[in-house]
Amino acid sequence: MKGATVLLSVLTRLLDSLFPRRCVGCGQRASLGLICSRCRPVKTELTRFEAGYFGYPYEGIYRKLLHDLKFSHRRDVLPLIRSLVNTDIYASYDFVIPVPSHWLRRLEHGCDPIHLIFQQQRGRVNRCRYTPAFHTLGKDERAKLIRQVFVVTSPEMFKGANVLIVDDIYTTGATFRELKQTLLNAGAATVDGYFLTRA
Ligand SMILES: [Zn+2]
Repeated sequence: MKGATVLLSVLTRLLDSLFPRRCVGCGQRASLGLICSRCRPVKTELTRFEAGYFGYPYEGIYRKLLHDLKFSHRRDVLPLIRSLVNTDIYASYDFVIPVPSHWLRRLEHGCDPIHLIFQQQRGRVNRCRYTPAFHTLGKDERAKLIRQVFVVTSPEMFKGANVLIVDDIYTTGATFRELKQTLLNAGAATVDGYFLTRA
């Protein structure tokens, strides 16, 4: 039995040196899981702002986690990101709508990150036009490109409804305002936004 314990500890050390586990935040060795205790984000209350609510500033570990999921396609960070979402707010709304992504974008990413983060079904609103990756564009270009991008598939269900739009980042608000207007045009009574981070 003692021999087996020694062997196991030797094996663990060997594996650790061959495949060191690095913290997603600082890159230092993290002996327990994905993130070290210094980088681990703490779940906070939501902050109210003009478009609705946001959770965290789009910087530091929050920015890093979203980048890892969306651009490095690291699915292992997903549980950590989900743990930062305040789902309690969903109960105050009739519908929770993730900002729809174009099917071509989903093909490109291999998934729909917003749908994965907020664990909400998409499909009530579609994105009918493909737009270039927004982080490469300026404010004016974004506003121009986003016009009439969304289509509500069954407008009758939104009549008089209180809708919450959820997204990972609030930057210029161009996408949010366009989607909000589309839903108000479909008859929604109120439309708020909940953004995991705000730039
Ligand atoms: Zn760290």
